[in-house]
Amino acid sequence: MTDRRIYGIETEFGITCAHLAEGEPPVGAEEAALLLFRPVQDRGRSTNVFLPNGGRLYLDVGAHPEYATAECDRLEDILAQDRAGTTLMADLARTANQRLAADEILGAIHLFRNNADSRGNSYGCHENYLVRRTPRFREMIESLLAFFVTRQIVVGSGYLKLKRGRATYGFSQRADQTWDAVSSATTRSRPIINTRDEPHADADRYRRLHVIVGDTNISEAATCAKVAVTELLLTLAERGQLPRIELLDPMRAIREVCQDLSGTVRCDVVGGRAITAVDIQRTYLEAITNADLELTRLHRYALDLWQRGLDAIASGDHSAVETELDWAVKKKLLDRLAARGHRLESFEASRLMLAYHDVTDAGIAPRMEERGMLARLTSAADVDDALVNPPATTRAKVRGAFIAAAEKHRRDHTVDWTHIRLNDAAHKAIRLDDPFAASDEHVAALIADMRGPEVEVPWC
Ligand code: ATP
Ligand code: MG
Ligand code: MG
Repeated sequence: MTDRRIYGIETEFGITCAHLAEGEPPVGAEEAALLLFRPVQDRGRSTNVFLPNGGRLYLDVGAHPEYATAECDRLEDILAQDRAGTTLMADLARTANQRLAADEILGAIHLFRNNADSRGNSYGCHENYLVRRTPRFREMIESLLAFFVTRQIVVGSGYLKLKRGRATYGFSQRADQTWDAVSSATTRSRPIINTRDEPHADADRYRRLHVIVGDTNISEAATCAKVAVTELLLTLAERGQLPRIELLDPMRAIREVCQDLSGTVRCDVVGGRAITAVDIQRTYLEAITNADLELTRLHRYALDLWQRGLDAIASGDHSAVETELDWAVKKKLLDRLAARGHRLESFEASRLMLAYHDVTDAGIAPRMEERGMLARLTSAADVDDALVNPPATTRAKVRGAFIAAAEKHRRDHTVDWTHIRLNDAAHKAIRLDDPFAASDEHVAALIADMRGPEVEVPWC
């Protein structure tokens, strides 16, 4: 039985412009974000554009540049599309920094794939999963809450928390910023799951599960594990095969689990004895391994990594995941720093943590990948391809082909997740309601019909 599912990841980036000498940032965050997006604006006359690879690049309120991947249904694709977004942002930062240098402004823009800045503002990494519409949607979400509260022990990005001069190291920056279990608002209450009913698909058949609670991962292995295991659990949920674990106080549990690297803190559950996050995750993992599911190579890798992650926490020996799970990779960096005499409270420790999440040329993750300190699952060729080409098996293929043609022929157009339109009196919007459909005859005809001067439009 095949359980094809559509998913996509939205990543908000933190931005700052550091002074190259000393003192206050020479350019504020909002100004830096506008400078970063200048090539995007020049190209699309907007800071909110869909790309030929089917993804979306935009600047939302609060100066957090965002990249949303195209709809994917293969783990290989989501990894490549997500990394393409990071590469695009890094390219934009390079261009912006060259402009600052040309203008003799002593500043360097940094972009962070993390979830909080030094002033306590939080920004997110949303996962989106297509699920079949059911009157029991709320029930399904509630039965997944224990999973979402505790999965940080595997796929949390690691969190060096400084409070009143004391530092602690926990699993997840985002867990500490989550205020509500389930809500229809993303910003005000910052929930685990956002219930806004906006499926970006045929609303009679589907809903989109909008997961707000995750950390932004740097490690591709962690991104792979996060999406794969969540996706498989959704299949179990749709089949009614999910284990029932109900936390008595999910918001208390999420914070306590976050701070407990030993994995021994117990969470109270309804109608049972308190259990650890490791045991909760083992229960979900067992349900997946006992089910009849179609698994790809990357699914099997993800399940194996999940198992190794849980064993690492339970044993206290993190060596089996220290190049794959972000919290363990960063913990190793901090341990090495401590061996050189720098405490968790030190400036060096905070700087190192930021450098891990920095996607500009000042970041350290690519060099760690080259040296085998951080696993990499995509190839450079996969990412080059994903920068310009959409996933071949979803609606993104139709959107991407349309955008590429419209740009090539310089035709004014409007696009969102479910529509495409040439902006002229002769054409109406074409609705693309089926995210599984990788072809559309009306769009194919429209592309064939496009006329005009052929101009190459390079990025940046
Ligand atoms: P906000 O930015 O306020 O969270 P939004 O969730 O609609 O709004 P976008 O940033 O536009 O956000 O991103 C939508 C994400 O949902 C993309 O990653 C996209 O690939 C994914 N997506 C689109 N259609 C579907 C679908 N039918 N099912 C699951 N995911 C989808
Ligand atoms: Mg978004
Ligand atoms: Mg979103």
